[in-house]
Amino acid sequence: MKYPERHQSAQLFEEAKKYFPGGVHSPVRAFKSVSGPPLFIKKGSGCRIVDEDDNTYLDFCGSWGPLILGHAHPDVINPILETMVNGTSFGTPNKIGNELGKIICENNRYLDKIRFVSSGTEAVMSAIRLARGITGKSKIIKFEGCYHGHVDSLLVKAGSGLATFGVSTSAGIPPSFAAETIVLPLNDLDLLNATLSKYREEVACVIIEPIPANNGLLLQTQSYLASMRDLCTQHGVLLIFDEVISGYRVGFEGAAGYYNIQPDIITYGKIIGGGMPVGAYAASKEYMSYISPEGPVYQAGTLSANPVAMAAGLATLKILKTEGFYLQLEQRTADFVGQIQSHCDNKGYQVCIQQIGSIFWISFSKVPAVTASDIDPSSMELFKNLHSYLLMHGIYLGPSGYEVGFVSGAHKRSDLSEAAGIICSGLDEILS
Ligand SMILES: *Cc1c(COP(=O)(O)O)cnc(C)c1O
Repeated sequence: MKYPERHQSAQLFEEAKKYFPGGVHSPVRAFKSVSGPPLFIKKGSGCRIVDEDDNTYLDFCGSWGPLILGHAHPDVINPILETMVNGTSFGTPNKIGNELGKIICENNRYLDKIRFVSSGTEAVMSAIRLARGITGKSKIIKFEGCYHGHVDSLLVKAGSGLATFGVSTSAGIPPSFAAETIVLPLNDLDLLNATLSKYREEVACVIIEPIPANNGLLLQTQSYLASMRDLCTQHGVLLIFDEVISGYRVGFEGAAGYYNIQPDIITYGKIIGGGMPVGAYAASKEYMSYISPEGPVYQAGTLSANPVAMAAGLATLKILKTEGFYLQLEQRTADFVGQIQSHCDNKGYQVCIQQIGSIFWISFSKVPAVTASDIDPSSMELFKNLHSYLLMHGIYLGPSGYEVGFVSGAHKRSDLSEAAGIICSGLDEILS
């Protein structure tokens, strides 16, 4: 059989371990929760990627979300190439950055101005600083099951007891930083209200992934998010939507537009850079006037808005803006997920596939998870088996059962029904 061969990847991983901690530059890439060596990918085209052993896989990871148009889309690659022959960075303003800013700001009801940075983490870190700068308060509220990058004060989980101050989930974070963060469960308005009532004088902002997609796909209701918006307004606390995944994924106006809710600050990343390192944070004119050099909140970046990254983002967003793009992608994803779900229902498997837009998540549970504690950690063993089966049969999912899958514009209906067939066989193999 062709697919199990991973000699090159295995050898390269051994070498990588000599130079890099754990052999990787981002922990989940190390395949710790699934079997085998991580794949070393050498190229991609459309919905497929090819590893160093020349195995081809149908890719549902999409570089963890950015590649909504698939790999090496010619209308994205060509502008990148045209831009880079003129130089990659000048540390000055550039015209392409204006164009990307314009297409974003003029097509989004929820923001006036934007600042580009180089990653989602940087975007979130800066948005938190902005919220603190605007309100003059220090504490932040986050939710268990939401990921916001590796910002110190956000690598925090709930301590013991209800509505407690956080404890860090990483070494190297001073307890005093973690103590500035209050961690609450998702989908609990009473607790949010009680916490805001108690700490309103200290809390600068509430931050949430409006579509929590980093710990499974924990879909929240519109009414929960809308009530959160109202509570924040009542208590004088800013609401940050971390749209690093959901931004440009579920529509041009992201989750804010999907649910029709106005956050105070929005963060972006992933898709906004079209596969290049870009993040951004955005808000009203008034709030953005707090940012240096206009205002007192300092934030800077040597490579921010560099022309090559701006060209990739601009090319991507131009395509996303075409009539019907999102509708078609959502429909195709729903059909794909529906095929697998009905197979599972017919067979009586305890499998529940969550989906929104072109994001999906296969969970081994009878009912959809809404909070982080709804997820049964022991179900991850099943995911591990499924992941191995799928790799053997030419399908690449992110290497953890807590990670969502992404469908791109490059996945044709035929690719998706092929994938659905293989996934159904994989489920048969591991569950019966
Ligand atoms: C990926 C992600 C981040 C972090 O972005 P990086 O570019 O990896 O730093 C932050 N927030 C959310 C919601 C994300 O999905």
